[in-house]
Amino acid sequence: MRIFKFGGASVKDASGVKNVFDVLQKVGYEDVLLIVSAMGKTTNALEVVIKNYFDKSPDLNASIQEVKKYHYQILLDLFEDEDHEVFLDVDSHFADFEYFVRSNKSPNYNFVYDQIVSYGEIISTTILSHYMNFRGISSQWLDVRNYIKTDNTYRDANVDWDITQKNISKISKKKSLFVTQGFVGSDENGFTTTLGREGSDYTGAIFAYCLNAESVTIWKDVPGVMNADPRYFENATLLNQISYREAIELAFYGASVIHPKTLQPLQRKEIPLYVKSFVNPLLPGTSVSKGEDLEPKLPCFIVKKNQLLLSLSSIDFSFIMEENISEIFALLHQHKLKVSLIQNSAISFSVCVEDKFGTFKELVKILSKKFKVSYNENVSLYTVRHFDEKAMKTVEKSKTVLLRQMSRETLQVVTKE
Ligand code: ASP
Ligand code: MG
Repeated sequence: MRIFKFGGASVKDASGVKNVFDVLQKVGYEDVLLIVSAMGKTTNALEVVIKNYFDKSPDLNASIQEVKKYHYQILLDLFEDEDHEVFLDVDSHFADFEYFVRSNKSPNYNFVYDQIVSYGEIISTTILSHYMNFRGISSQWLDVRNYIKTDNTYRDANVDWDITQKNISKISKKKSLFVTQGFVGSDENGFTTTLGREGSDYTGAIFAYCLNAESVTIWKDVPGVMNADPRYFENATLLNQISYREAIELAFYGASVIHPKTLQPLQRKEIPLYVKSFVNPLLPGTSVSKGEDLEPKLPCFIVKKNQLLLSLSSIDFSFIMEENISEIFALLHQHKLKVSLIQNSAISFSVCVEDKFGTFKELVKILSKKFKVSYNENVSLYTVRHFDEKAMKTVEKSKTVLLRQMSRETLQVVTKE
């Protein structure tokens, strides 16, 4: 089986959905599992709904209507005939969604978040699956919550691999096209969970692993994995082939083309990953596979914006030793702050983190009891793999460098623009 993942940008409007059909026509759809994300910026729009819900904002209903309007417009563009059964299916998902918003009693933000935000994927896949049938590619819609089982860490759920493997093995291997949701899973009580923002790639890897798939293809609006984000760097170049190891490093440092959790399961079973253009589906794109990187190593640039640089020093000039460091890390972990750079000296210790879950200020409060704490907000972290002199100049040009770190392969620079 081949696993195809289409992200939000690839299905942001009716022509995007039509293009998925065209891609399938060109590359084949027998024995394919399609993993689809929420359409366009739907996840962000649903985050607004969630915020309005918790703020008891008068805009709550308007924000829900906006999400509905966007999807119904796509439906009208795709099907024209309002009597098509897809309308009933989508109506019923929206009815469930609105019922949840009306009747929920749980004050647990992360729980509510997952119950609501998952409708983006439920609805996008419903539309996709109907549209493929409508155009003559017969497809089967799967509710991913019957397959991917997780713990109840809402918004960042951990997969229970044993149960998931059992469930996925039950998918009948008939030569068909399956369509299912990225990003979503469910816990042992059947409540919806999510795997973390941009987690649909990871869903692809989970299915690939459990099905011993032939390959995974992530269809993108770029030609493949580039050595730099073309939004921030001129002359970005396509990488034709990279090793799992290199891809893991790039994803870890924040290259946004591949979700970092995606590569480990694929590497374990040596399942190749292709990153290809949904505009030119017959071009080879990038292949991520076993073995050495075949090409000369181009410097690869990765930017993470909106980071925090947190610096701690001891109040009495005592050394920051192993026990302090392990305590600091335990606190970072508890606050779900992912560290992307560490630097320490005898009496001070700095980390670059991203405040994904809004827990940073609380952590600072706790740390201030023991350390002198200072931090810079809104800094950028530039990482250059396989850097050279020229690459270094490029990233540091007209920026204030707050911190620089080099290893043999990797240069990291924290800057204030
Ligand atoms: N729709 C989810 C998000 O935007 C998952 C994904 O796109 O991978 O984060
Ligand atoms: Mg998305």
